[in-house]
Amino acid sequence: MLDLTEFRKDLHRHPETGFDLGRTASRISDVLKTAGLEVTEGVGKAGVVATLRRGPDDRAIGLRADMDALPINEANTFEHRSLSPGKFHGCGHDGHTTMLIGAALDLAADNTLDRTVHFIFQPDEENGLGAKAMIEDGLFERFPMTAIFGLHNMPGMSVGHFATQTGPFCAFEDNFVIDIRGIGGHASMPEIGIDPIVLGSAMVLQLQTIISRSVSAKDHAVVSVTGFETDGARNILASNVRLTGDCRGFSDAVSDRIESRMRDIANGMAQAHAADVSVGYSTSFRPLVNDPEQTALAVRAAASVGTAEGNHGRVGFSEDFAVFLTERPGAFILMGNGTEGPSAMPLHNPGYDFNDKAMKSGIEYWKAMAKAA
Ligand SMILES: [Zn+2]
Ligand SMILES: [Zn+2]
Repeated sequence: MLDLTEFRKDLHRHPETGFDLGRTASRISDVLKTAGLEVTEGVGKAGVVATLRRGPDDRAIGLRADMDALPINEANTFEHRSLSPGKFHGCGHDGHTTMLIGAALDLAADNTLDRTVHFIFQPDEENGLGAKAMIEDGLFERFPMTAIFGLHNMPGMSVGHFATQTGPFCAFEDNFVIDIRGIGGHASMPEIGIDPIVLGSAMVLQLQTIISRSVSAKDHAVVSVTGFETDGARNILASNVRLTGDCRGFSDAVSDRIESRMRDIANGMAQAHAADVSVGYSTSFRPLVNDPEQTALAVRAAASVGTAEGNHGRVGFSEDFAVFLTERPGAFILMGNGTEGPSAMPLHNPGYDFNDKAMKSGIEYWKAMAKAA
């Protein structure tokens, strides 16, 4: 019998990041191969898919966990703290991986399960590149499934409580870089140059009008300028300004609207100041949109093993699971990680830890989901 708490602590001691998940993936694959599942490694570079085959593909579902840690130092001093400087399971993906393994082991031994289940362990959730890599590597063609489900622990929420939301649930994250090129020179003679700092400063304020004037009151969205760099100095007018920033919202239409207004504002203002400008705009995370029917199933499964809330409201963070939901219907749910100690510290805080006492509720949820109609 695998000791799941020890397994989780072992992953915590040996965190790996991004797609560099060799040890983590091989530990997962060893355990599940031994239990008799069909295990495919290297799906989307470092992903693992373990299949429990019971019945035809037209009822198969996917249950997904993430495996990657964060590139930060852990502040905890407990016995199972990270042994790798600069790497830390600060988002609880060690717990997510272990709970999905726990469910797979129980279901493999359960003769009443009558559908094929694909247990999906994805790489690089934190940078938002892992789901795309698995899909591009043929995840849904090689492992046909009708729906896919994801879960994340939530510090501060009671153990045994689950929360989700039909429709848009987690925000998209877009990032931008605006490069302004003026003509620098002597600080005493601005009239013979083009000052990108005056232009850049005006642009920061103008970008704030995108949400207030161009996005509907019923859509939540944020545009934040998070960086302003120049190459000016005490008596030297800058030649270059770089603005960087981050945008959040809950639909692709809002993302497109923000991008197009940003380009218009940057180009128009640069022209007015006779400066050159270039705008780089990219989506790091898609909006996560839960399917109504699958969300109802998920809420029912959660309610059968704990307490469940189906109208939690939207959350401002982003999740790479969103990309899977652009290909197949499904639902993403939050699970309580507890209200005290490291389990209640915010995700990504150096003092956070996954709560082993929450593990059972996650495993029971996955098992209920595997058996949901
Ligand atoms: Zn995270
Ligand atoms: Zn996470």
